[in-house]
Amino acid sequence: MKILKNVSLKKYNTIKIGGPASIIYFPENHSEIKSIKNILKKRKTLILGNGSNIAFKDIGYKNDLVCFKKLKNSLSLIGTNNIYASAGVSCAKLAKFAHRHSIPGFEFLYGIPGTVGGALRMNAGAFGSEIWDIVQYVTILDKKFDLIKLERSKFNFSYRRVDMKGISAFVDVFFKINKNRKFQRSLLDEFSVKRKKTQPINQWSSGCIFKNPKKDISASALIDNSNLSETRVGGIYISNKHCNYFINDGTGSCNNLEKLIKIIQLDIHKQHSIRLEKEICIY
Ligand SMILES: Cc1cc2nc3c(=O)[nH]c(=O)nc-3n(C[C@H](O)[C@H](O)[C@H](O)COP(=O)(O)OP(=O)(O)OC[C@H]3O[C@@H](n4cnc5c(N)ncnc54)[C@H](O)[C@@H]3O)c2cc1C
Repeated sequence: MKILKNVSLKKYNTIKIGGPASIIYFPENHSEIKSIKNILKKRKTLILGNGSNIAFKDIGYKNDLVCFKKLKNSLSLIGTNNIYASAGVSCAKLAKFAHRHSIPGFEFLYGIPGTVGGALRMNAGAFGSEIWDIVQYVTILDKKFDLIKLERSKFNFSYRRVDMKGISAFVDVFFKINKNRKFQRSLLDEFSVKRKKTQPINQWSSGCIFKNPKKDISASALIDNSNLSETRVGGIYISNKHCNYFINDGTGSCNNLEKLIKIIQLDIHKQHSIRLEKEICIY
């Protein structure tokens, strides 16, 4: 198993923020996961996917990190009812795989730059769909660090959250193929074009910084209408393409990011009595 010590965490998140990591383990299969049970058992050990919704503090992360990105990239059709994916598979690869097999319902995942494991943890979604909509079973690592297969009905999830009670990590997943749904060959490209038009996908960011406070109130619209849309703190600024994306110009720090988050939260609360909740995870 690959193990890295004293590496910069900037390499392991898409907003390129953070000090050094003491140690990162990269298990590649179930037996390597089992071999680091004692590491995973530690309360402060953190699981990392592709780092597309994470920023690390400037002092770095002193506890152990376990990255599932190198988990054997298995992705396969199971009969005609399921797609199997390990937690390390990228959402884009999964969407393309389903598209190649003319399977509908996975197109929304194409532009989400995370792993399947990270997407399950965040209940990632786009264009009106969320990942838990298409799950049938999930293999998890429970709090005793045993691998257990659980049905979707055992999970409690809602917009950008899943209840992690009893769960340490998502290891792999069986998605359900919906045979009543019609496959639209052009949908993947349509979503991709929409995303490119409305989101700064080629800049260093973590996607949306805040959750939408209500179904019909977007955090982006609140910021856009607040006179704060051009605010910058150090090297972190609000994207002019999408106000809920904060961009690192290459010099930004976690301290800059947290200050900008505070400024926006305070202002939106003052103006609308709405408390914007962070979607980004900061450790
Ligand atoms: C340009 C851009 C566009 C984006 N667009 C969207 C979008 O449309 N919709 C959306 O929902 N999100 C979007 N995001 C945010 C992000 O891509 C998603 O939240 C994604 O699901 C995170 O996956 P990850 O593998 O990068 O997780 P990470 O960022 O590595 O981790 C996120 C959280 O999940 C935990 N975690 C990771 N893997 C596991 C695992 N296997 N088991 C248990 N916990 C785990 C981590 O500890 C952390 O708490 C976007 C981000 C960017 C940069």
